Amino acid sequence: MKIVMLGAPGAGKGTQARLISEKFGIPQISTGDIFRANIRENTELGQRAKSYMDKGLLVPDQVTCDLVVDRIKRDDCANGYILDGFPRTIPQAHALTKALEDQGSKIDYAIDVEVPDEDIVTRMSGRRVCSKCGATFHIKYKKPAAEGICDSCGSALILREDDHPETVQKRLDVYHSQTQPLIDYYHDLGVLHSVDGTKEMDQVFADICSALE
Ligand code: AMP
Repeated sequence: MKIVMLGAPGAGKGTQARLISEKFGIPQISTGDIFRANIRENTELGQRAKSYMDKGLLVPDQVTCDLVVDRIKRDDCANGYILDGFPRTIPQAHALTKALEDQGSKIDYAIDVEVPDEDIVTRMSGRRVCSKCGATFHIKYKKPAAEGICDSCGSALILREDDHPETVQKRLDVYHSQTQPLIDYYHDLGVLHSVDGTKEMDQVFADICSALE
């Protein structure tokens, strides 16, 4: 089962992708997480990606596509995967379709998690991330046991550089101009399923599971 998660930044794609990954035993491939891990490890890819991410811009298509096309060839992807945060542009979607066609395969489901922009801004400004392991929390919806401290590793929680309100607005603009056209793209391929992302997390997950069955 090969799944693409669509939706604005902060719509809850990552959380839902993790739940799907656990239920169906297929890997969650998050390009944002891969870039952030590279930034923490200060790799060349990380340094390159950071200059775009901090401004709320997309990392260039070529860099991102090479990374994903390489990743989906690994053994753990044999039974499928969930792409979380990729594709984000029409050229990326074409590159993915082409890479899959070369393997005699295709995307089975594109799940669009719909959330209005106003809700996105509230959600993202409350998001906190662990400075060491990258675990995510929210000051209102997913509080850590001790304020400002990561439940998993005990390190300090911070506001992600790209979750600052001005950057969130920029990311939303980028989403509307570059990523939203993918909804039509996957609709035309006949694999699009939209869910209401403003519902409770469990309900959104139940709606996604019914689309996948
Ligand atoms: P995310 O955690 O998915 O919101 O991604 C955080 C940031 O990583 C984005 O704002 C982009 O700068 C970059 N990024 C993640 N995925 C992609 C992608 N598919 N194409 C280009 N840039 C990406």
